[in-house]
Amino acid sequence: MDNEEIKLFKSLDISNGNKFEIRKSLDQGRYLVATKDLSAGEEIFSEFAMSFAPSFSTNHPICVTCTKKVEADSVCTACGWSICSEPCAQNSIHAKQECKLLSEQKIKMCMDSLVEDDNTYNYSPLSVLRTLSLSGDKKKIYDLMQDSLHEWKQNDDFIEKFRVPAEVLKHVVCKSKSNADISLSNDNILRVFAVAFTNDFSHSYSHSGQELRCMYPLTALLNHSCAPNIQRQTIETNQGK
Ligand SMILES: [Zn+2]
Ligand SMILES: [Zn+2]
Repeated sequence: MDNEEIKLFKSLDISNGNKFEIRKSLDQGRYLVATKDLSAGEEIFSEFAMSFAPSFSTNHPICVTCTKKVEADSVCTACGWSICSEPCAQNSIHAKQECKLLSEQKIKMCMDSLVEDDNTYNYSPLSVLRTLSLSGDKKKIYDLMQDSLHEWKQNDDFIEKFRVPAEVLKHVVCKSKSNADISLSNDNILRVFAVAFTNDFSHSYSHSGQELRCMYPLTALLNHSCAPNIQRQTIETNQGK
């Protein structure tokens, strides 16, 4: 693994504790190795979620910023995504991600396009738009993340699950409003879901109970164990991370 790759992933550690190094093997990929003996209860590292979004399906429309339940006609005037209030529309979680991406191209989301046959709302296009909003080092890290896309594409359930969201995104949406095109290839869309399935962690938002999918690229490098000797803790901050 080259130095640039190591530096990018290590930069995600906001504890600056230097308690691990990142290595890579041909068959196992990237993994972490402790550089010192660790005491019980000692923090090894911490990182902000690089991206997060509501879990793919919900029983009712929710605010894409705070995840509170909203009425079907409560939408952002700039981009059409479901939103509860003006402060949530202006919050950077929404304003600097999907809202910026869509409103810059004068595209509006149709929330009806997310409704599935069983009347649930499929919010998975939001994960794609938020991932596409990543820039700079975050974008580079996303590009480096393992996706196992080839294997996922052999999985009929995976392809079927994201067939409609991929269509929604390709037209993103209310075509009559604009000729603009975000030009997403099918593989680009499926890769976001493949990266999410391979790496993401879930977290229930404390004030709404809504489950979120959170991208923690450094934490995702930890090996899995049925009897782990370390624990992961998710802390909500007022920075929406
Ligand atoms: Zn809200
Ligand atoms: Zn908006």
